[in-house]
Amino acid sequence: MTERRIRFSLDSIPASDGAGVRLRRSLGARRGLHLDPFLMLDEFSSDDPDDYIAGFPPHPHRGFETVTYMLDGRMEHKDHMGNTGRLDPGGVQWMTAGRGVIHSEMPRQREGRLRGFQLWINLPAAEKMRPPAYRDLAPQDIPEFEPANGVRIRAIAGATSLRADGRSDDILGAINTGHERSTDPLLLDVALAAGRSVEIDLPPGHNAFAYAVDGTPQVAGEALSANAAGLLGPGDRVVLSAPDDEPARVLLLAAKPIEEPVVQYGPFVMNTREEIEQAMIDYRNGTLTDATDA
Ligand code: MN
Repeated sequence: MTERRIRFSLDSIPASDGAGVRLRRSLGARRGLHLDPFLMLDEFSSDDPDDYIAGFPPHPHRGFETVTYMLDGRMEHKDHMGNTGRLDPGGVQWMTAGRGVIHSEMPRQREGRLRGFQLWINLPAAEKMRPPAYRDLAPQDIPEFEPANGVRIRAIAGATSLRADGRSDDILGAINTGHERSTDPLLLDVALAAGRSVEIDLPPGHNAFAYAVDGTPQVAGEALSANAAGLLGPGDRVVLSAPDDEPARVLLLAAKPIEEPVVQYGPFVMNTREEIEQAMIDYRNGTLTDATDA
């Protein structure tokens, strides 16, 4: 039984995506530098509308899931299935592209701060061509736990146990993934008052990382670098804490690795080059999203 520590700090680099949204990309910024099954993590954060106003006009995805977590500001999602959803501060959109989704993600504001994260989680071969699915979680749909004074956890996905102040608690996220998808992701937003800490169980076989949201959160007593994904080493639990003089907030993510070849071309993530070529043909022919032969 070991405690997980930061094994590698993966700095983010400035990037631009969609129609020119400026963001910082840690996981996925360089080819091959991801953490199976996490393909990509983008953080967008700006008070300047020029950095985000162009948004992400209609574009396709196939073969994986996208998770958007809004902290500040509002975005609107529309897809080919006729879904429209608004993402408010604290809300989450969990989209399983599966065989294919064509959607847009556009800011619903002309000024003010826009901050949030987009995470890409891969799907195994057996689930890549499943029918697409989409869930909007309003801020109040995300269970919040306060296992001890000064420890507040928003459980977006997964289930686990934790300990704080000598007390044990089980927590269950809004997306209970164990039965729905084999990657079984855990996604927690952990806010800690100055000097507080929490110990969270993580399945030993899952890959995990942490990302600082506010302040300087610590993993096993070591500070997370700002704007970087702290990839965690092996173990069955992790201790997150805030320094003695200020609060801290941290995202904790863990999931079961898929251990299959990853071939990515932009918004398509498959196992082979032939499948990528097929995705491009399907997109060109307008059949990317057809619910046939799946
Ligand atoms: Mn998208």
